[in-house]
Amino acid sequence: MLPVIALVGRPNVGKSTLFNRLTRSRDAIVADFAGLTRDRQYGQGRVGPRPYLVIDTGGFEPIRTEGIVKAMANQAELAIEECDAVIFVCDARAGLTPQDSRIADFLRRCGRKVILCVNKAEGLSDIAKAEFYELGLGEPLLISAAHGQGVRDAVEAALADFPEEEGDEEEVLDENAPRAIKVTVAGRPNAGKSTLINALLGEERLIAYDMPGTTRDAIKVDFEYGGRPYELVDTAGLRRKGKVFEAVEKFSVVKTLQAIQDANVVILVIDAKNGVAESDAHIAGYVLETGRALVVAVNKWDLLDSYERERAALDLEQKLHFLRWARMIRISALKRNGLNHLMRAVDEAHAAAYAKIPTPKLTRALLEAVQRQQPPRARGGRPKPRYAHQGGSNPPVIVVHGNALEDIGESYRRYLEAFFREKFNLAGTPLRIEFRTKD
Ligand code: GDP
Ligand code: GDP
Repeated sequence: MLPVIALVGRPNVGKSTLFNRLTRSRDAIVADFAGLTRDRQYGQGRVGPRPYLVIDTGGFEPIRTEGIVKAMANQAELAIEECDAVIFVCDARAGLTPQDSRIADFLRRCGRKVILCVNKAEGLSDIAKAEFYELGLGEPLLISAAHGQGVRDAVEAALADFPEEEGDEEEVLDENAPRAIKVTVAGRPNAGKSTLINALLGEERLIAYDMPGTTRDAIKVDFEYGGRPYELVDTAGLRRKGKVFEAVEKFSVVKTLQAIQDANVVILVIDAKNGVAESDAHIAGYVLETGRALVVAVNKWDLLDSYERERAALDLEQKLHFLRWARMIRISALKRNGLNHLMRAVDEAHAAAYAKIPTPKLTRALLEAVQRQQPPRARGGRPKPRYAHQGGSNPPVIVVHGNALEDIGESYRRYLEAFFREKFNLAGTPLRIEFRTKD
């Protein structure tokens, strides 16, 4: 499961600067995810190939006072509860403050691994960290969030106890072995996730269920649908009660993001009656970011009259325009309508995500695409795509080789993407296209 790092410290020490550096362009992809808070930001970072989640917490002041300061403390406490390791940020320029000591007292008791970082340390010598030993949190690390110094070491220290993700197990499986498609069902509270899951499980045999030992363990359920095996991976925000799943009271962003990361195919459930919310788009954006296959279940279709159906279709098209490649299946989880269609789309998305396309076929398709429409001429002459090979799966990566390809713009890239999708039936999965120029 994706490890989670929380950034904690008093205001102005450089937490947001550090957050932006860790998540780079992936800034705050899921800020205000559930409409719960504006004080916590979530993003994804990477050290080497290894992804992790970062939570930025506004300021932190563990004193019980009323109003905004207290609210911020609560946000920080919630973030600490959700995380595996804390990066505690102090300010080398301001030196050690009484507030730092109070936060340290809190952190020593929180039961999480704490990495103490002294920020704004560019150009400072080791003497700058001397006073911070007093916090009793071990060796302080001098960092500069603004300049990137020491940041990687801090993250590696925070993640040191977490096992590296095993490689992509799909690759080592026997091609012919029946394998369960790992599915997660995500969506806002009340979208109908538990109703959908209970409908899927209820119709067919529930094969196995592992009771989670601790709250960190994922719920896993094997089931069959239409004779095919699936594994429901920790479906965010749900727990099993007796024979059925139900939503837990507290929606956890972290659990949602972890479940998406662990799945092969994400079913994003949207409440058609309420329309597409910003948080639906945030979840979808995160799925895109992780490269997972996706099917959108447009739920509660039974509640809509014909006018509302038209409006809902428009709404989906507008707000989820960046998901044109994903199938949108209208369902009623309650009345069990559309479930077959939905699961077929899941199969199709999975097949697309793991499609293997031989180089000659790809190259032929590339040349056909270029013949129909040449890349626009650029400074360095006209880009010349020559051949293509597949550079990875889940999501599929198509690597295009040729000359002057660095001049190919976004619109031509999109044209090629659409062409490959159509040609190789790649609905339901993100598709990445990379250009490699031979010099
Ligand atoms: P936050 O309130 O903890 O999120 O702090 P911010 O990230 O907003 O940073 C507060 C101020 O410190 C801003 O003016 C930043 O530009 C500055 N700052 C952040 N990191 C560094 C750093 O590494 N070196 C220096 N000199 N300034 C920094
Ligand atoms: P969750 O929080 O996403 O797990 O949502 P639930 O599955 O608990 O559903 C929330 C509410 O919506 C419940 O009252 C469900 O009965 C209702 N609901 C779910 N799916 C449908 C549907 O397809 N049609 C209708 N009319 N109601 C639904």
